[in-house]
Amino acid sequence: MWWLDNLPQSRSHTVTGILLKLKLHWQILIAMILGAAAGSLFGDNAVFSGTVDKVATVFMRLLRMVIVPLIFTSIVTGVAGIGDPKSLGRLGLKTLLYYLATSFFAALVGLGLVNIIQPGVGVEIPELSGERPEELDNVATSLTDVIINMVPTNPVQAAADFDILGLIFFSIFLGAAMATMQNAAGERLRSFFGAAFEAMMVMTGFVLRVLPIGVFALIAAAISKMGFGVFNQIGQYMLTIAIGLTLHTFVVLPLLFFVLTKRNPLDHYRAMAPAMAMAFSTSSSSATLPATIKCLRENVGVSNKTTSFVIPMGATINMDGTALYECAGALFIAQALGIQMSFTQQIVIVITALLVSIGAASIPSAGLVMIFIVLEAVGLTDPAAYALVGLMLAVDRPLDMYRTMVNITSDSIGAAVIGDSEGEELNYDKDSD
Ligand code: ASP
Repeated sequence: MWWLDNLPQSRSHTVTGILLKLKLHWQILIAMILGAAAGSLFGDNAVFSGTVDKVATVFMRLLRMVIVPLIFTSIVTGVAGIGDPKSLGRLGLKTLLYYLATSFFAALVGLGLVNIIQPGVGVEIPELSGERPEELDNVATSLTDVIINMVPTNPVQAAADFDILGLIFFSIFLGAAMATMQNAAGERLRSFFGAAFEAMMVMTGFVLRVLPIGVFALIAAAISKMGFGVFNQIGQYMLTIAIGLTLHTFVVLPLLFFVLTKRNPLDHYRAMAPAMAMAFSTSSSSATLPATIKCLRENVGVSNKTTSFVIPMGATINMDGTALYECAGALFIAQALGIQMSFTQQIVIVITALLVSIGAASIPSAGLVMIFIVLEAVGLTDPAAYALVGLMLAVDRPLDMYRTMVNITSDSIGAAVIGDSEGEELNYDKDSD
């Protein structure tokens, strides 16, 4: 009836209807803009910031809830389905090569930019407390520890402790064992894990439906908490990192993708947009894992065999954004302290940055905490260096958001490139989302 359409209430229904009909990546973009606007307008209001904080926490918990069973079932199913150990080795080698190469390129981008822009020159060193900033006291373990701890003594505990590398190790092992069981028991196990994985993907789908709400709350909460005070002081440093991350994500990685797959990188970015937005708002590669897997499977068409092998591992050890950040951050500190780094020292920084990015946990701010290892490698252990890290901590959130997005973008390109090289049909023409 015509009069029904003209009621104000029905108009608002139309707006909601239009919003809901938009593709997921548009909904997320709108949620981001609204979240940023609401965060800056009402950030000081305790009721508002308290509410968005709670919604953001529930959303993060929902995401974390699916991660362990998703990683477990997807890797076991993927590896058990590979069958031939030779093809598992080939996949592993390609994955490792891709991870090392892209993280190395990223560290080089960071190195080049800091040398050109010189953001550290003239930075005022904050009052020295003579100690490491408190938040950074729990500095991560060394790389050797990371490798040793990859082998869990108790897989159930690894899962409960959210020890992702330990979980990956056990899952690959179990999947490989199942692949050798060419009997009825093996068949039953494979179909059980396959079905469990499918159920986890359905659950992930449900979580993704509320993604715009989660993104809104996460961005609003992050903006409410950000300390803008020190932005002027190290704005140039932030800009340098942002330029580096942009160059790596929108020039280096797309070029690599194009050269290796002969496909339009824009299609890939459009297909991965929901996962990229999720990485940006959560600052955590592991919290983004379910979205990364889902986008790759459904919007890109990469097989479960490849995705389950490349992505959980990638989210944990392939961090291009973090490698770039470690390298640029350490050089920035040296510049601010007026210390000239020799060519050899710069090479040491690149290599340590690469190793540290492998060892960094896939959680917010992990990269910043790991910078001490890079600093130690080149003898930057002065209290003034720690004071500068404290300054970097104050502005870390936006940089962490961006570098996490770069980290998962590189993982996803890796999965697509490796899938393509394995003869899989990438299917970007499908209507994304
Ligand atoms: N937050 C990043 C990630 O989860 C790690 C980092 O802090 O660099 O990928």
